[in-house]
Amino acid sequence: MKIFVLNAGSSSHKSCLFDLSQGNAIGQINRPLWQAALDWTHAEGSVELTASKSGGEAVTQVLPLTDKAEGLQALVQTLVQGPTKVLDDLSEIVAVGHRVVHGGRDYQQPVVIDAGVKETIRQLISLAPAHNLANLQGIEAMEHLLGEVPQVAVFDTAFHASMPEAAATYPGPYDWVEQGIRRYGFHGISHQYVAQRAAQMLGQNLEDLKMLTCHLGNGCSLAAVKGGISVDTTMGFTPLDGLMMGSRSGSVDPGILIYLMRQEGCGVDHLDHLLNKTSGLKGLSGLSNDLRVVVEAMEQGNTQAQLAVDVFIHRLRREMGSMIASLGGLDAVVFTAGIGENSPLVWQRACEGFDFLGLKLKDDLERAKDDQDIAAADSRVRVLVIHTQEEGAIAQACHALLQ
Ligand code: AMP
Repeated sequence: MKIFVLNAGSSSHKSCLFDLSQGNAIGQINRPLWQAALDWTHAEGSVELTASKSGGEAVTQVLPLTDKAEGLQALVQTLVQGPTKVLDDLSEIVAVGHRVVHGGRDYQQPVVIDAGVKETIRQLISLAPAHNLANLQGIEAMEHLLGEVPQVAVFDTAFHASMPEAAATYPGPYDWVEQGIRRYGFHGISHQYVAQRAAQMLGQNLEDLKMLTCHLGNGCSLAAVKGGISVDTTMGFTPLDGLMMGSRSGSVDPGILIYLMRQEGCGVDHLDHLLNKTSGLKGLSGLSNDLRVVVEAMEQGNTQAQLAVDVFIHRLRREMGSMIASLGGLDAVVFTAGIGENSPLVWQRACEGFDFLGLKLKDDLERAKDDQDIAAADSRVRVLVIHTQEEGAIAQACHALLQ
């Protein structure tokens, strides 16, 4: 069963082809037959297309395209043509799975996409403007390219839908509750996958574990996963809440926004830009949203970069503490995504705050290609670094729904 997965963002498209005919055990790692990505930030007026098939070299080409649908068409062609060909014909694809960031209150499970689902995704654009619009455009482009093939939406909010009301409700006026202004939470596909994979690595039942999962990439969020269920998370009504991120501020005193609007006449679009694009690591360091760049500058004595890293770690530890309180105990911490999978500095400094819980890391921390346990043998809490497999998890969800 060949399943094409599309993770469409505003500045990139990532896609994989999986063959799930061999079954789909929970937490099992599915290796894609083929993967490809479009990088729209490459250079003005062009897109960089990189494709590879399992075990093969990556092939990169720069195409003079600015239209997202045309870029996707070129990407899909690499499945059936050239050195990355893995299919004789696109008709071998039996389903397409899409990561859709915001499912609102309507979707708490993966769903086969029809006109009604598309309309709901469209209505939710105001809650996740950059993400849901790109997701919808991706769905429409794939419909155009593949015709009648079933398409499935897998929502990043769905895993958090069972959060207790006390965790999901903002303490504003009750009207907010009725309007659906609540904590939805995001990165759910990743939090759910790494929690399942962690239980598998620990050789324990997911139902018996209290886990803190830390998705730290360009966007950052934590989830408190108790018995396999998300009971709290740091992102909220939008993906702006919670931790400090690459270029997003995370939570700030809402009084700052009122102050900026009153004292400086700051408009909505300017605030949106400030909080989403020019804050976080990028805003504080004045350098980059990429932690690698900021750490390098810090090591060369740049004090703004030092402050950015210190605030990032402080916010992370503070929110980790609040998730541990929501869990009421802690069996394992899981680090995942770009920063979480690759930064011994972040593992070390984030975990330092929790040695009073008996959490101890190994002395020699190193990045690894495989998932690893970085806790010391005598640590009371296991600490796992797990490579997230959002696309594989989306393919599994499609397979499960269509079976
Ligand atoms: P993601 O959104 O999951 O693709 O993560 C992207 C981010 O991961 C980048 O912006 C970097 O900040 C971070 N990252 C990637 N590799 C490393 C690394 N080796 N060390 C520290 N941070 C990294």
